[in-house]
Amino acid sequence: MPMNNYQKKQFSQLMTKLFKDNAYYKELAKAIKYEQIGPEEIYRMLPYQNRKSLQNLGNKIYTSFSEDVIVEMTSGTTGEPLECPKKNEERISLALDLWDKRRRIDPLLKKDDFFLLYGSKARKYHNFFNYDLENLKKCMRFLAEINPRWICGSISAFERYSNEIVNGNLSNDMTNLRYIELQGEYVDKSVRELVEQAFQAKTIVHYGNREMWTIAYECLGGKLHTNDRMGYFEIKKENQGDKYGHIIVTSFNQVTLPIVKYDTGDIGRIVECECVCGQKHALEIIDGRVSTIIKGTKLNGNIIMKGILNDVIKKNQKIISRFYVEQIELNTFLVYIEKGPEYGLCIENKIKEAFRKRISEGVKVVFKYTSDMLSYVENKCPIFRVCCE
Ligand SMILES: [Zn+2]
Repeated sequence: MPMNNYQKKQFSQLMTKLFKDNAYYKELAKAIKYEQIGPEEIYRMLPYQNRKSLQNLGNKIYTSFSEDVIVEMTSGTTGEPLECPKKNEERISLALDLWDKRRRIDPLLKKDDFFLLYGSKARKYHNFFNYDLENLKKCMRFLAEINPRWICGSISAFERYSNEIVNGNLSNDMTNLRYIELQGEYVDKSVRELVEQAFQAKTIVHYGNREMWTIAYECLGGKLHTNDRMGYFEIKKENQGDKYGHIIVTSFNQVTLPIVKYDTGDIGRIVECECVCGQKHALEIIDGRVSTIIKGTKLNGNIIMKGILNDVIKKNQKIISRFYVEQIELNTFLVYIEKGPEYGLCIENKIKEAFRKRISEGVKVVFKYTSDMLSYVENKCPIFRVCCE
């Protein structure tokens, strides 16, 4: 997608600031005669970044600032977290933009009708990500009391609640609830339907990250539109002819930590469409970040591991409470298991068989049992991670 005129103007303003005030971009400016070329050419000449490259730049990448900043940390599934400081004014513009998107869907929505399941405010009341049934009951009673119109969390969390609701173990007494905003993870259509049925509310996908907040937001027409007012988005394909590519983002309003040609690690494509909301293109994301492709294969680790888990546990069996897999060598997978009440050792053979069937005959599988799955951090709930070079 080429930049539109508004984006060109915003991008020029951002880069003028960065070339002047940011140590890293100031250095780059020496090689780019930016006063003489247009925004699209400046964009082309700048290097791509990712979490690792920004970390490697150290303090140079942070624009010096005098006012207080709030430091957010990425909670990514791989590697060290990145510090994402934002000035108050930067956070306010991101928040206003996000609330504008919510109110386009629900004009009656007020701040008091809204509840976020994670973050410091939520933690004051409960840990909404402890899926112990007794805890879930407390959480649902609390939610019924505050009776929000809009709640926000990750799809895997809502899936856990929904399974218990559908099975009759948990009751949903929120009478005002209209919308559930899904953040932080790829959203599977069938899980989405389960959540909508259990909660009797409409789900809305909010795709973003800690680095720049909202990358794309779903409209009432069900399409995920890139946040063109706040940034510019590119799909960078690895090979010509690829259908999908890396989702690259540039945020116009962030100077403290510039997000310019930043590789999100997610894969998707932009498609043209005629949406009821009037927008002409939409983003399609596929399940799996770059880092979740099984090394040595073209297989998507998330999909494969979910498939293996389904092969083994079938529906609603209480064999395994939690399941998480690391690829520790090219041909070796470490499977973490938190046992369910109906677990038996023969399950190991079933899991090994499923690995061989879905990946290759030669794979080695080792098991580790745990009662405290550290990888299940707050709202991110990965099922697979590559841990080898
Ligand atoms: Zn739309």
